[in-house]
Parts: sequence; structure tokens; C-alpha cells
Amino acid sequence: MEEERRTLPFECRGCWHVWEEDYLVRHIDDEHGNAAEIWLRDGLSVPPPSSGVICPHCGCQATTTFPAGYLARHPELFRAAEPVVPDATPLLSPVPPRRPY
Ligand SMILES: [Zn+2]
Repeated sequence: MEEERRTLPFECRGCWHVWEEDYLVRHIDDEHGNAAEIWLRDGLSVPPPSSGVICPHCGCQATTTFPAGYLARHPELFRAAEPVVPDATPLLSPVPPRRPY
């Protein structure tokens, strides 16, 4: 029995959210010599991602996968999907706060 870790990129066709999921693929042979794959996520058996994955962003089921490693060649897709980090600089009023007493 072999296990292989795969990170698959997905894209939602509803909201264009791009994300990745980590899977553990277990390769097994049944008694008849047929090879089979068992897909695990967080230790739980899940359907193969080709059967449709639900977008974690909008719940849409119209999602598509990329070939593994696709996002490494197209990092702009992943970055565009990241939320914009707000400016961490606090907005300070130049007027000193009035003391309550
Ligand atoms: Zn979506």
C-alpha cells in the first residue's frame, strides 16, 4: 500500500475563488489485481475531487480543478484570490483625547 500526498488547486466558476486542498491518496490493489485509489482528507475518506468539490467561499458546486502544480506556474491566480490585507497603521487623530475628569 502506498500513500501519496497531493495538493490540488481548485477554482470556483461562481465566484472565481481559487483555493487548494490537501489530500492523501492511498493506492491499493484488491484481491483481483485491480488498482484502486482511496482519497483521504484530514484522515477521512472523501470522494475523488473529480466528482465535484463545493466552493468554501460561496457554496457553489460548479468548481473546476487545475493540474497539480498549476498554481506554482500561475501564482497571480492565487494572489488575486487572496483577501486584501487592510493597512495595519492605526488611524490616529491628531487631536489628543480629552480626559474624562
Ligand atoms: Zn465560489
